[in-house]
Amino acid sequence: MNRGSHSPAYSILENASLRARNSFGVEARAALLIDVRKNDALRELFGYAMLQRDPVLVLGEGSNVLFTRNWPGVVLTLATRGIEVLADDEQTLRVRVAAGEHWNDFVHWSLARGACGLENLALIPGTVGAAPIQNIGAYGGEVAEFIATVEAWDRQQGNFVRLQPAQCAFGYRDSLFKHEPDRYLIVAVEFELPRRRAPHLGYAGIQAELDAMGVAAAAATSAQVAEAVTRLRMRKLPDPAVHGNAGSFFKNPRVDPAFANTLRAEHADLPIWDADGGLVKLSAAWLIEQAGCKGERDGDAGISARHALVLVNHGHASGAQLWAFAQTVRERVRARFGVELEAEPRIV
Ligand SMILES: Cc1cc2nc3c(=O)[nH]c(=O)nc-3n(C[C@H](O)[C@H](O)[C@H](O)COP(=O)(O)OP(=O)(O)OC[C@H]3O[C@@H](n4cnc5c(N)ncnc54)[C@H](O)[C@@H]3O)c2cc1C
Repeated sequence: MNRGSHSPAYSILENASLRARNSFGVEARAALLIDVRKNDALRELFGYAMLQRDPVLVLGEGSNVLFTRNWPGVVLTLATRGIEVLADDEQTLRVRVAAGEHWNDFVHWSLARGACGLENLALIPGTVGAAPIQNIGAYGGEVAEFIATVEAWDRQQGNFVRLQPAQCAFGYRDSLFKHEPDRYLIVAVEFELPRRRAPHLGYAGIQAELDAMGVAAAAATSAQVAEAVTRLRMRKLPDPAVHGNAGSFFKNPRVDPAFANTLRAEHADLPIWDADGGLVKLSAAWLIEQAGCKGERDGDAGISARHALVLVNHGHASGAQLWAFAQTVRERVRARFGVELEAEPRIV
């Protein structure tokens, strides 16, 4: 393995800056950065002592990672491309998508092919390979619903494996891959998308947005729903190109219903939703706003004034400063409501 080398299958850079590779726009360096363009290169690369010995971090577009320090080992990205149609009939479209494809491009590709299901997940940043990691979700949809198989390089076995959805343990912003970050590199995802499906319009704002577009909700196509979701997201979420962020920084906390009811007795407008496992979900945005953190900042690290869930880099905050500000928010919510907030992105 030659450092600084380039081959058709991968390229390697030493002491590489990751500033342009994370949506917070914070500086961090990787001892070695490897961009992989062909999956077969993984066999060769993981044969080298360095990749067996040193910590390896898989990075997509860096839209769900907060670097608080440099990475002492290898940062590896899958820059692979390609969408392959595996089956196409009147009921479903089955496709295999390379990990490096941009998620939103794939959403629009699927809509243009007359498939539906992914419209509520339009404009989520990142790669297809990262989508299963936290089971990306938005506006009442989750990607797990459409995943047929996840193809991964299993570092433990030194082989490619195919994982069925039941093996992936998908949950709310969660999966097996979040719990075993050092084991699987997702190289491709197979999706099974329906040709017909009643659109999910229940989530706040979609119907009103369709109205504003002059589209009757009952007749809305998947492409129109995707457009409504895109317009909503562009209005509500700060653009990472302007103010670095990773979208929602905190998960909605899942708590015991009895505890939620105690809180509700004191705060009648606290939003509560059903969750799996006999638990309920509280609105993290509401808790943060009520704790007085929305729009607050310390230097260049702060909470967006537009959206209480979004931690933002107003300019030159370091990852450590952003993480410290996130701790302040967690402490204020804990002190006010006795609720523990959990970060959604991967903290390095
Ligand atoms: C403005 C904004 C809005 C967002 N909105 C949403 C939203 O609505 N819903 C939502 O769910 N998320 C949202 N996110 C978070 C983010 O877009 C998703 O989590 C996305 O899937 C991350 O993709 P990525 O390629 O940037 O992954 P990265 O941030 O690079 O990586 C995320 C995690 O996945 C791992 N990983 C990445 N690729 C692979 C791979 N091929 N194999 C194994 N592990 C891998 C990384 O190690 C890391 O742990 C938002 C982010 C931003 C900036």
